[in-house]
Amino acid sequence: MHPMDHDPSAETALSDPAPFIEFLPVPALLLDNRGRVAVANASAASMLGAGVGKLVGVEFVTCLPLSSRPAWRATARGDLAARVDLSLAESRGWARAQVGRVPAAGGRPAGLLVLLADITEDRRQAEAIEAHLGALDRAKRELEALATSDGLTGLANHRAFQSRLGAELRRALHAGRPLSLLLVDVDHFKRLNDSFGHPAGDEVLRQLGRLLRDALRPGDTVARYGGEEFAVILPGAAARAAGVVAGRLNAAVRNHPWRLREVTVSVGHATADATVVDASDLVARADQALYAAKHAGRDRAMDWSALGAAPPGKIDLGEWLARIEDARVDPSGHAAVRVLQQAILDHLQWKNRLRGIIGGDEHLVPREIGDHRECRLGRWYLQSRAQYGENADWIALDAPHARLHALAAQIVAEVSAGDHEQAMADLRELERCSTQIVDCLERLAEVAGA
Ligand code: GH3
Ligand code: MG
Ligand code: MG
Repeated sequence: MHPMDHDPSAETALSDPAPFIEFLPVPALLLDNRGRVAVANASAASMLGAGVGKLVGVEFVTCLPLSSRPAWRATARGDLAARVDLSLAESRGWARAQVGRVPAAGGRPAGLLVLLADITEDRRQAEAIEAHLGALDRAKRELEALATSDGLTGLANHRAFQSRLGAELRRALHAGRPLSLLLVDVDHFKRLNDSFGHPAGDEVLRQLGRLLRDALRPGDTVARYGGEEFAVILPGAAARAAGVVAGRLNAAVRNHPWRLREVTVSVGHATADATVVDASDLVARADQALYAAKHAGRDRAMDWSALGAAPPGKIDLGEWLARIEDARVDPSGHAAVRVLQQAILDHLQWKNRLRGIIGGDEHLVPREIGDHRECRLGRWYLQSRAQYGENADWIALDAPHARLHALAAQIVAEVSAGDHEQAMADLRELERCSTQIVDCLERLAEVAGA
C-alpha cells in the first residue's frame, strides 16, 4: 500500500493525543474538561514532583501551592490560549505554563493542553536584579540625604538651605506672598565649649535643632547655617508674624531645662519686600539684625526693618517691670534675675564714636545679682582700662557698677514681694546709675581717643 493511502487505524491513533504528549520534548499535560490530569509526560511529572501514575486523575490545581492557585484558575477559565507563571510546590521553583484549548472531536471530550517551561533561573535573576536596583535606589536616597543634611543635627545643611531659600524666594515674589528669614545664633557659645568641652557643646546644638524644629510648622524650613548658627525660612510670614515666631523661639530656648547651664539665642529677622534683590540680600539683612540683637544684649530678636531707630533694644522701664513680673513664673527667681541682667545691659549700651554701639556686656557682665561686691568686667572695659591706664575716672566707675548690682538685687526682691512702686523707683534709680556709667565711659573714651 502506498504510504499516503487512506488507513483508518492510523487516523484513530493520530486522534488520540496521549502518545504525542508522552513523547513531546517539553513537560506537557492534557487536562480533561474538569481540570483533572488525563495524560502527563515524565518531565511534567518530575517538574511537579510526582510520578506519572500518581498524577493521572488528580485535579491539576491541587498540584500547585496555594499562592499559585488563583492565577491558575483565572487562566483555566479564560477562553483563549494563555500564558501564566506559577510557583511550584515545595520550593521547586517556577514554571511558565502555556495553555491551549483542545476542542472535542471524534467522541473525545474537550480539554486543556498545558506545556510547562522551567523559568526558575530567569526568575532568580530577575529577583536579584530587582534587589540590586532596590539597594541602588536606597543608596541613592541615602547619598542625597547625606548631601543635603547636617550630620550633627539632622537638619538641612547650608547647601540645602541656600537652594531652598532661593526657590522659596522666587515662589514668594512670583505669587506676591510674604517670606521671612530668621538667623538664630547661640549666645556666648564659646564659653559653653570652654567650660564643658566640645562634646557637650555638640549635644546642646543637637537639642537646639530639635527645639527649633518642634517650635515651627511643617512648611517652615530649619537649617544649620553653620557652626552654632541656625536659619529658619518662614514662607507666607510677614514681618509681624516673623517677630512672633522669633520671640517664641527665644522663649523656647530660654525656658528649656538645660542640663549644664542656661542657653539663650539671639535672632535677626528680615522679610522679603520689593527692595530685596536676591536671597543673599535677605540673608545679609537678617545678619545685620542678628548683629544688632547681639549688641543690644542678646537673648532677643530684632527685625531688620526696625534697625536704625535709636539704640536697638532700648525699652522703657514699665516694660522691664512687666518682663520681670512675667519672669516670676519661674519660682527659683533665676528668670527674673536674667531679665534684670538684660535690663542692666540694655541701659549700659552706648554709642562709641569709633566702634559704634557697644553692648552692655562688653564693659560689664553681671554675675549673680545680689553679689554687689563684684561684677565681671567685659572685654571692652578690661581692654580699654589696660590700654589707657588707671585713672580717677576709671576708679570712679567701680562705685556705680557696685550700686547697679545692689539695685538689681533690691528690684528682684521688691517685684517678688509685689512692691511694684518701690521696684519702679529703683528701676529709675538703676537707669540714672547706668546713665552715670555711660557718661563716664564717654568721657574716658573722649580723653583716651578710643
Ligand atoms: P556670641 O554671643 O557673640 O555669638 O558669642 P559666641 O561665643 O557664640 O560667638 P562666636 O561666633 O565667636 O563663637 C561660636 C563658637 O561656636 C566658636 C566655635 O568653637 C563654636 N562652634 C562652632 N561649631 C561648633 C560645633 O559644631 N560644635 C561645637 N561644640 N562648637 C562649635
Ligand atoms: Mg556665631
Ligand atoms: Mg554665637
